[in-house]
Amino acid sequence: MLIRQAQPGRVFAARLPKGADLLAALTELCAVQGVNHGEVTAIGALTEARLGYYNQERRRYEIITVAAHCEIVSLVGNISLKDGRPFVHAHLAVAGADGRVSGGHLVEGCPVFAGEAVVRELDVAEPLERDYDGPTGLALWRP
Ligand code: ZN
Repeated sequence: MLIRQAQPGRVFAARLPKGADLLAALTELCAVQGVNHGEVTAIGALTEARLGYYNQERRRYEIITVAAHCEIVSLVGNISLKDGRPFVHAHLAVAGADGRVSGGHLVEGCPVFAGEAVVRELDVAEPLERDYDGPTGLALWRP
């Protein structure tokens, strides 16, 4: 098991711009503020959503499309480094007009209608870098 001890750092609260891509906006926030490690939560609404489901046999993401206005019921994620830059890994649950929830891995293609995010920076003694992991095919934290 890979474990890194961390201390709480700065905290940012951000209103996300209408029309922005959710993942791109969160990534930009981290890049502009220099947040290389941390956690992120958000709520709000999207005009539509795209979610990833990692097919463990095929070792690739399949895309779930929610082609309707929806609420961000929950967005939970972390921030670490990939290729030397802040990388947001988040999972998203959205609910449509009937209250039914779809969830998955946050990918690009989620236009923000309204969004409020909180980013909590973690000060780590040693950086957490993502790298290709052979057994899973995913970019995981490198030991
Ligand atoms: Zn994921």
